[in-house]
Amino acid sequence: MEDLYGHLISYLRVSITDRCNERCLYCMPQELQEWLPHTEILSYEEMIRIVRVAASLGVTKLRVTGGEPLTRRGVLEFFRQLQAIPTIRDLGVSTNGSLLGKPVLDHGGKTMAECLRHYGVRTINVSLDTLDRATYARVTGRDYLPRTLEGIAAARAAGFRHNEIKLNSVLIKGSCEDQLIPLIEYAGEHDLLLRFIELMPVSTREVLSDDNFYPIATAKRRIEDHFGPLMPTPNFQTNGPATYYRLPGSTQKIGFIGAMTNLHFCENCNKLRLTCEGKLRPCLGSFLEFDIREPLRSGASDAELRQVFLDVVARKPKQHDFRDNYQPNRKMVAIGG
Ligand code: SAM
Ligand code: SF4
Repeated sequence: MEDLYGHLISYLRVSITDRCNERCLYCMPQELQEWLPHTEILSYEEMIRIVRVAASLGVTKLRVTGGEPLTRRGVLEFFRQLQAIPTIRDLGVSTNGSLLGKPVLDHGGKTMAECLRHYGVRTINVSLDTLDRATYARVTGRDYLPRTLEGIAAARAAGFRHNEIKLNSVLIKGSCEDQLIPLIEYAGEHDLLLRFIELMPVSTREVLSDDNFYPIATAKRRIEDHFGPLMPTPNFQTNGPATYYRLPGSTQKIGFIGAMTNLHFCENCNKLRLTCEGKLRPCLGSFLEFDIREPLRSGASDAELRQVFLDVVARKPKQHDFRDNYQPNRKMVAIGG
């Protein structure tokens, strides 16, 4: 699938739930908490059908997200079925990490991370904005820092290595400044790939204000003040919009995801999103969404579902609207980050 601007679409983010066991300030503000009714959420069977259609159109990379995907019952069986789709070569999950270390009783007490690896998950993105327990509790609404760190340890113990575990850290003015260096040191010690992410105005307009926005450039300056000049690594790419730099005198790389201030952010976009209630979303930062659940539930053929994908890709915008006229009308937790 190719959009009007020459982007080849090979990556689908599949959100399997709008529910979460945390309450991050920037993702699901307290006043917006209302879950979708179960009937509106796609079943796993419906999702697998949609993924198969996407795979037949050239999607080779999947990331399962949410909400918190590891809270949905039956998620391991879902991964097992995704793994069995032959053309899917890269299967990942985005998680807050709090359940990665949990023993899974019907898998002989293996940790969730071990089970994920067993079912073909190759990369785990873990959200970790801070190593300070009180700040973690304030930002995420839950005192889960210890279990998130245990979850990361469980992922390492399960055999996920270096680039296979990425830490995503959202920059929030007022709480991130003193965490940049500790997070880099923690990532270095545990051989994890850390990326700093600029806050995006996704859930409500108030999510982003001059009081809480902390630009990538400022973070970089602060990091360079501590470590010395960061070295660009143009040949190092993961499958997303991060730009990576190497710390001086070290092999450790740090990524920066600057949706708001990097004007080239959308240039290599290869992504579509499927929300948990069956909307295909061509761009996170544009309110365009197209329903695939209705045709699916009313008996559309694979060819008809393929056409829905092609119509959506044809409407993929050149770039996101976050800097201009974006109207937040959806919680990030419901879109799938
Ligand atoms: N619960 C999982 C997690 O926390 O990783 C997966 C879903 S979460 C919506 C995916 C990512 O979106 C997380 O890394 C989170 O930090 C990021 N995110 C949520 N709201 C955001 C916002 N307003 N701006 C930037 N990133 C955001
Ligand atoms: Fe939940 Fe992830 Fe959103 Fe935090 S960022 S509220 S963990 S979905």
